[in-house]
Amino acid sequence: MGSSERKTRKILVTSALPYANGPLHLGHIAGAYLPADIYVRYQRLKGRDVIYICGSDEHGVPITVSADQEGISPQEVVDRYHRMNKEAFESLGISFDHYSRTSLPVHHETAQSFFTALFQKGDLKVKESEQFYSPRSRRFLPDRYVEGICPHCRYDKARGDQCDHCGKWLEPADLINPRSKMDGEIPELRKTVHWYLPMGQFADSWKKWFESRQWKDNVRNYCRGWYEEGLGDRPITRDLHWGVPVPLDDEKARGKVLYVWFDAPIGYISATREWADKVGDSDRWKSYWKDPETFLVHFIGKDNIVFHAILFPMILMEVGGYILPEAIPANEYLTIEGRKISTSQNYAIWLKDYLEKFPADPLRYTLAANAPETKDTDFSWSQFQSRNNDELADILGNFVNRSLTFTHRFFKGRVPEPGKLDEVDQAMLKAIQETRDDLGACFEQFEVRRGTKTLMDLCRKANKYFNDKAPWETRKTRPETCAATLYVCLQVSRALSVLMSPVLPGAAEKLLRVLGGEKPLSWDEAGTELLRPGSRLRKPEILFQKIDDEVIQREIESLAAIAGQDRENKKNR
Ligand SMILES: [Zn+2]
Repeated sequence: MGSSERKTRKILVTSALPYANGPLHLGHIAGAYLPADIYVRYQRLKGRDVIYICGSDEHGVPITVSADQEGISPQEVVDRYHRMNKEAFESLGISFDHYSRTSLPVHHETAQSFFTALFQKGDLKVKESEQFYSPRSRRFLPDRYVEGICPHCRYDKARGDQCDHCGKWLEPADLINPRSKMDGEIPELRKTVHWYLPMGQFADSWKKWFESRQWKDNVRNYCRGWYEEGLGDRPITRDLHWGVPVPLDDEKARGKVLYVWFDAPIGYISATREWADKVGDSDRWKSYWKDPETFLVHFIGKDNIVFHAILFPMILMEVGGYILPEAIPANEYLTIEGRKISTSQNYAIWLKDYLEKFPADPLRYTLAANAPETKDTDFSWSQFQSRNNDELADILGNFVNRSLTFTHRFFKGRVPEPGKLDEVDQAMLKAIQETRDDLGACFEQFEVRRGTKTLMDLCRKANKYFNDKAPWETRKTRPETCAATLYVCLQVSRALSVLMSPVLPGAAEKLLRVLGGEKPLSWDEAGTELLRPGSRLRKPEILFQKIDDEVIQREIESLAAIAGQDRENKKNR
């Protein structure tokens, strides 16, 4: 999968469908969305045929539980979070070509066609099992909503599918004294029928394909673990009224929907279909999903590896005619101030809250510089502050600002004629091209962290160049040297407006406006003479505002209060 090979290929990028049962937090963004957006923005600048697809995952039991608790319909729950998350993504500059939702008819139809194809091939097994049933609400209860005593270790909060204390897998009937987690009701066990995907049958062909690919270590290790444990039969239907109905004309299928892990990845395909309709060429989705020339990349967090590296490819292979993922850059987790994110305890930084107080770019930069690519990483407010103040403002922002201010003061706001460039000037211009190529290689290989450092290193170099050249002195003694220095600084600034735009799209756009540059930008042009001598520049704008200690302190304290509250609760339990 060399980068030269990819140049001519179409690229289809997906990010894990966020669940429409709650707001987005920074852990989501660092895992599956920001790295994908940076990759896609870079590929667009390279002029490649790339589309970026995502949408809300709107099915599953937790949505029906939320709806019941609030006394509203599941549709109202997903409408609320779909809108909220879509807006938050937009404010952060996540540039999907299409953001769909799995409650739409196009998705129901697509997901059903996959089930039907497997069913007609005779792949699916029908099995009877016992499930908890709530007589009061007259419906089956999902295993994870029933608690009882573990028959193995006597832990009293074991769930219907697993005991978190001893780690053993359980059958609902194993649980002693089962109780509904929602209202304490004693559930009954009832017989039910489900359709199963016999993963073991497909394991060998899957393994062959998997071993032929270059995967990240974490993806490889997770998958080997699952494979060695044995891939058994997995149910792909559920007793539930909210979801994609099982498309069978069969009494046994009544009141059942497709299991959410089965239908959600198919959501990438239905979202691409919806996109194709939107751009007025309804067959165009096939030119991505059904053309082996397409390079398919799934950006996900590590909790989704099994679905994207095993289950979804197995389904695609078995149904046939679809491309398979070539890269799955799964990220590890982000912790906040050294603690695990916990949505149930409200220990998280919610994207929406962040964006009400701060601009998008400093967050994008901080998360990119600290991306959890190979191990869990930590977000702290003080690190965020220093990334913003000491790097974005003091290095990048300062360089651009001093270059522009100097040009306005002493060259009437026009790009100076450079005259003869000396070795140091030439080396600075060459550094732009080297950075462009290094940075491109980082983005191509999904190494956002190293890329972000490469970008800031160019800004450091440029500041040093400005200092060493001391134009405030040469202005009086050697005006032609001073002109050459500012010419070079402005070329660096103009190149930065391209090179920084995948990570810092907001500031890049501002900078481009000030420099009088034009869109569309092209990656390969960075490092060429993009600003002609004599062209006029606008007044500089501050690209990055510094953030005060008190503001940061307030954020630290509010998180500490939530963490302290949680410790208090545990003590009193
Ligand atoms: Zn146990």
